[in-house]
Amino acid sequence: KMNKDFGQHILKNPLVAQGIVDKADLKQCDVVLEVGPGTGNLTMRILEQARKVIAVEMDPRMAAELTKRKRLEIMLGDVIKTDLPYFDVCISNTPYQISSPLVFKLLRTSPPPRVAVLMFQREFAIRLVARPGDSLYCRLSVNVQMWAKVTHIMKVGKNNFRPPPQVESSVVRIEPKNPPPPIDFEEWDGLLRICFSRKNKTIGADFKTSSVVEMCEKNYLTWCSQNDTIVDDSITMKDRIIKVLNDVDMADKRSIKCDETDFLRHAVERIP
Ligand code: SAM
Repeated sequence: KMNKDFGQHILKNPLVAQGIVDKADLKQCDVVLEVGPGTGNLTMRILEQARKVIAVEMDPRMAAELTKRKRLEIMLGDVIKTDLPYFDVCISNTPYQISSPLVFKLLRTSPPPRVAVLMFQREFAIRLVARPGDSLYCRLSVNVQMWAKVTHIMKVGKNNFRPPPQVESSVVRIEPKNPPPPIDFEEWDGLLRICFSRKNKTIGADFKTSSVVEMCEKNYLTWCSQNDTIVDDSITMKDRIIKVLNDVDMADKRSIKCDETDFLRHAVERIP
């Protein structure tokens, strides 16, 4: 019996299963992290091509069903909360409720995996690969593309699963940049949160809201005290923000039309 909370949709089509594993371009020496092995239909194919599989499964009944064998290490638990050992590649028919935390966990793993081949629901996959101007382009797109090269590999219809999920699926390939860009994730994501807070407003307008101006003011004062710098009160925070946005030519842009390098220019031209 399936447990609804675990997002258990078993992949029934052997061609799709083999396709996912083949797209990872495994080397015989690779250690592969598999998230949610379920009944093991991807696991067995990965073992044929890699040195070792670390399979993290949250459902104890599923984990118990997996046949113990050499080169397969089964870890019982929630992959998001688990400290992971070293791995070269990640492969997963991902339980959809952990899509976003899993992607960010992989991107923040040090060193990052060489590649991840992951099944997601179609809309999430399209968000990952969306470019400026596309209708699903969003903060997730910019974040992921800052840290990785993402490609859409194949569409997978719902009837390839038992039981079929509500939505269509897609397989994507994520190749983290190595070394990762030297950016603090929280700062970067904070910037994007502001820029994407109101989709159709200009970035200038987003930054001129009083809550953002207040936050910048607070951060600036903290920065000054931490760096033994005298607070420059010859210019208001609002004017300072406008100056920075004009310097990087972002004031009149809309975030839905900017790519990750535009945001990077913005991030580098810091306040103060
Ligand atoms: N790999 C199998 C396949 O392709 O047929 C099963 C994939 S099924 C979509 C997702 C699997 O992930 C289930 O076995 C489920 O129990 C497991 N799972 C759900 N949440 C998880 C979590 N947070 N950490 C690890 N495994 C999880």
